[in-house]
Amino acid sequence: MTEKPRPTGITLNKNKGYMEINWNIDNVTARYSLPHLREACPCAECRGGHEFMGAAYDPDDLMSLQLLPARDYTIKDLQLIGNYAIQPVWGDGHSSGIFTWEYLWKIRPKEG
Ligand SMILES: [Zn+2]
Repeated sequence: MTEKPRPTGITLNKNKGYMEINWNIDNVTARYSLPHLREACPCAECRGGHEFMGAAYDPDDLMSLQLLPARDYTIKDLQLIGNYAIQPVWGDGHSSGIFTWEYLWKIRPKEG
């Protein structure tokens, strides 16, 4: 019964820094800020987090996260991967993150 999430339209607004996706489910339109997308990058490099693996979450770790250099939150290019995902090319050249429809649906910002 569950319908698979699939975009009916994707709009990238480079000037305002967001990507908007119209979904086939319930006519949902979700607006993803580019920083939100970048932070959610599913690639191994971004998700690796070796330094945190196995360690208990310590508030000091959270503070050290703030000291990481700012990432580039602009999208240079957006590639369509088959019929199931998009692959953004970020301003700093990072492009190994493949955002599948199901992932994008899962991380969509919810209103309210
Ligand atoms: Zn990444």
